[in-house]
Amino acid sequence: MTSDNRGILTEMTIDEVETLDPEVVVLGIASTEPHGPHLPYGTDTYQTETICRRAVTAANEAGASVLLYPTLPIGNNVNFQAFPFACRIGVRTLMDVVLDVIEAIEAEGVEKIVLVNGHGGNTATLRATLREHAGRHDPGDGAFVCLTSNSGAIPPGDRDRIEHPSEHAGELETSRMLAIRPDLVDESAFDEFPILKPRLEQLRSDRVTFVPRWDAYMPASAGGETRASSVEKGDAVIDGAADWIAELLVELDRVDVDELFPFPSAD
Ligand SMILES: [Zn+2]
Repeated sequence: MTSDNRGILTEMTIDEVETLDPEVVVLGIASTEPHGPHLPYGTDTYQTETICRRAVTAANEAGASVLLYPTLPIGNNVNFQAFPFACRIGVRTLMDVVLDVIEAIEAEGVEKIVLVNGHGGNTATLRATLREHAGRHDPGDGAFVCLTSNSGAIPPGDRDRIEHPSEHAGELETSRMLAIRPDLVDESAFDEFPILKPRLEQLRSDRVTFVPRWDAYMPASAGGETRASSVEKGDAVIDGAADWIAELLVELDRVDVDELFPFPSAD
């Protein structure tokens, strides 16, 4: 085993996996859907794979024993139907897939599972999946499963480098793709892509939620100013998120998951 592939399941042999004997498993959940005229459909999947790989590699270099599962490339995209070939599986299907994967990891004796989400459309489903999983076990039984995301894991100082925030295919994602796969980024198509606002003032607030029809919200399938995107910003937000996830993995690796985890044990 080279240090490059340590913990990366798709690149390991059965002997290497048995030697690793992981304490923690990481599963990325991404998506394949349009990201404007300048980024590829695989944007969310490339980002998730890269951040998870850097996090797992860093954690294992720090002495942890973490295994990275292959990233799921298709997620929830019910609101992208007006765009061509926006890949999607249903809400309940995604929940079932993730629950089955969790169950299979638990059957290997692993008690710590970290989900890394790379697509906003998956968030509500994955939160519900954690609750469904908790409900399938008696209190204190089953693996400890937690959820973070490509964007949520970025430390505030690194996030501040993004001058034009956007939920989709804006400066953040464009910078990350410039850092990961510049060959798939069309800089000549960079622009300020429209982000439409709801007609009702009350629906513009985060006090209420609804499922936005994405072609009505971001007609270009991308939103916001992208011309300030850069490799440096992309590396900063990728490394910031990966380093933070690596710290979480190292701490999880060391800890004993008893019945009351993550809260203090009774003794
Ligand atoms: Zn995206």
